[in-house]
Amino acid sequence: MRICFFGTASAIPYAGNGYTSFLLESAGKTVLVDTGDNAVRSMQEMGCDPLLLDAVVLTHEHADHLGAFPALIAALDCMGRSKRLQIVMPSGLVPKVLELLALFDYYPEQMHFEMGFAQQWHTEGMEVNLLPGNHSKYTMMPRFVTEGLTLLYTSDIRYREGQYVALGGRCHTLIHEATYSHVKLPEDTRHSSAFEAGLAAGEIGARELFLCHFQRDAYENDEEPKVEASQTFAGEVVIPRLMQWYPIQAN
Ligand SMILES: [Zn+2]
Ligand SMILES: [Zn+2]
Repeated sequence: MRICFFGTASAIPYAGNGYTSFLLESAGKTVLVDTGDNAVRSMQEMGCDPLLLDAVVLTHEHADHLGAFPALIAALDCMGRSKRLQIVMPSGLVPKVLELLALFDYYPEQMHFEMGFAQQWHTEGMEVNLLPGNHSKYTMMPRFVTEGLTLLYTSDIRYREGQYVALGGRCHTLIHEATYSHVKLPEDTRHSSAFEAGLAAGEIGARELFLCHFQRDAYENDEEPKVEASQTFAGEVVIPRLMQWYPIQAN
């Protein structure tokens, strides 16, 4: 399995960084997680053919995660895609997504390619399930089980001690949002700090932790999230560089 981040910013993008979104490849499948800024462009910059994309995971309805979805579908349609595309998302999100497509006169039954909508996706060599999250909008955390590994992505989440374990969220690799530094974490927030992301990684027995969804002015410098998460997590902490593949291997 390998992953590549197209962006690691929060809902406020900044120079050189856009909305949090990543591509995952495993068992011959390619999955886009949240739609970011312009996934078709990013995929091509990474040498990936968007026409071969197998699935898109949508975690929740905030614009920084879902906003570019109609443009993604429009681009794939214009490119002449014929391969079926699986959309994995919370079932409650389906009507909104269809409404969003309809705004641009896109209707699944009239597209050049078939779209499937489901809350889970089990395909050869990969299982994608969604676990309930904890955010200001209903959100779900995609969990990938593939190549003997489990990867969990929290998307936007308010950390609560023990919540991941209660969900059976043990994993090898955790991708956790770290919108704020711990000292700048607002009291009524629906997000987490890097410090809490480290706690979560420890609780669920992760070997490595990728941090994302940074609000730039909430940290003193680019390394601070890693330093902070390392205070609460003894495993490897990664602040992913954009447009770079990270291999995920059992070790
Ligand atoms: Zn967000
Ligand atoms: Zn959100």
